[in-house]
Amino acid sequence: MARVVVVGIDAASWNLLEPWIRDGVLPNLKLLVEGGAYGPLESTYPFITSPAWKSFSTGKNPGKIGIFYWFNFDKESKRIVFPNYTKHLELWDVASFHGMRSMVVNIPLTYPPKPISGVMVSGFPVLEHQEYVHPKHLKKHLYEKYNYRVAPKEHFSNPKSVSDVKSVIESRLKLAIDNIEYYNLTCIGLYYTDAIQHYHWDNRELLMDLWEFIDDWIGKIMGSLGEKDYLIVFSDHGATELKSVFLANMWLREMGYLHFKKDPFKPGLSLRTILKTFGLSREKLVRVFFKLNKVLSPLITEKTLLKNLGAPYESEYGEIGIIGVLSAVDWEKTKAIVIGEGDLYIIADNREEYEDTLTRIIREVEKYCNGKIRAKTKKELYSGPYVSNAPDIVLVPSEGYMVSDHMSRSGRIWVVRDNYKSFHIKNGILIINGPSIQENYKTSNAKIYDLMPTILQILKLPIPRDVDGRVLTEVFKTRTEPATRPVKYVDPLKFRVAGLRSKLKAKTRERV
Ligand SMILES: [Zn+2]
Repeated sequence: MARVVVVGIDAASWNLLEPWIRDGVLPNLKLLVEGGAYGPLESTYPFITSPAWKSFSTGKNPGKIGIFYWFNFDKESKRIVFPNYTKHLELWDVASFHGMRSMVVNIPLTYPPKPISGVMVSGFPVLEHQEYVHPKHLKKHLYEKYNYRVAPKEHFSNPKSVSDVKSVIESRLKLAIDNIEYYNLTCIGLYYTDAIQHYHWDNRELLMDLWEFIDDWIGKIMGSLGEKDYLIVFSDHGATELKSVFLANMWLREMGYLHFKKDPFKPGLSLRTILKTFGLSREKLVRVFFKLNKVLSPLITEKTLLKNLGAPYESEYGEIGIIGVLSAVDWEKTKAIVIGEGDLYIIADNREEYEDTLTRIIREVEKYCNGKIRAKTKKELYSGPYVSNAPDIVLVPSEGYMVSDHMSRSGRIWVVRDNYKSFHIKNGILIINGPSIQENYKTSNAKIYDLMPTILQILKLPIPRDVDGRVLTEVFKTRTEPATRPVKYVDPLKFRVAGLRSKLKAKTRERV
């Protein structure tokens, strides 16, 4: 029986890798490309890690899973809310239901781990002290045999963090290689590549060193596979050099859509003031946080996210994140706010006001940004039961730009962040290699949610009817088995969790 091994590499991007593949710097990726199908892989809107990875594993658009950023905004309570990351049917759930064994390691947003048939090691956001391994007893083994850690210790702005990131990557891939033979499906997430690229995009030597290391390990994976097996390498989005950042809430304030009841920067008896008193900046605090990971055991996953992404304290660049922004907003007057990296929510009293605000913001922001940022409505982007919770507009940056929810003390709407060198682009990478896959075949319109149904087709499994993705039939050689076997769709209710659980009860003795 064919095995499928999937390696997802956060923010892997053709613009960086293609010249190195061509010149033989990455010989194993070159072999995979020349012997398989490859091309751009279109991400979700927004092209941010959290919705993109979930779209990969569920085969669905964010409107069907309710994940539009790391967190969403609830217009009623005016608060940040966390979506349920693990309740939707994923690739490995379908495999489990059909008695196939999966090894799922470090895929983002998989905490708490699901009781799949096989092993699940949760990925970011997760803390060392949490129970992030299914079955539980394997956690100690992973640590002792593979030195498995959930995250590197160094902050990524430090060039030394690369060696730390390498050792973390090595622990995941070594675990995978040692155990690939026992599983029908292996999915490995390499997560910190994105963070390294964010801080060191201009340091080609450093990036080449990291990618040579990854290529070497991909070669080892190739060496552990048999002739019938498939290897898929993909990324959740691409990356490119960042020129400047659009501070959308600064613009909304200037245009009169966002109002404050107090100055978000005004010093009060806040933790920020206390930290400043002790000479601690947010950056330093994050560094300390990384070091104290184990000590800060009461922290839960959501708080970790907020601390990392909400930027509650003023940064060295005089910017304050969404937590500080929300604490100062005057909701009586405010008509729109941006949460995260481009999710814009409209606050309106009635339908007419909503439509009017929506139309005006789209027209005005596109005019102001002159092609650097485009505005797309949720109607254009999403479908499904969670569309009502979706941002009303997604501000989509063109290559080289980024949208942020920060406010800046400088008063500027466009800013350049000295140590943040790259940001995401819509297209990530896709490489599929295996016995039925065309050789040196360039794909053109693959989307991230096509991977789930395509992998199920290779594994000869049926596909839940409610997925948005399609089987990428064009990658198969004509007259091969996966090309000629009709795609079988089934009612998703078939996979109800209760049924899944009982089916899995007998299968908790796992080895790695
Ligand atoms: Zn990402």
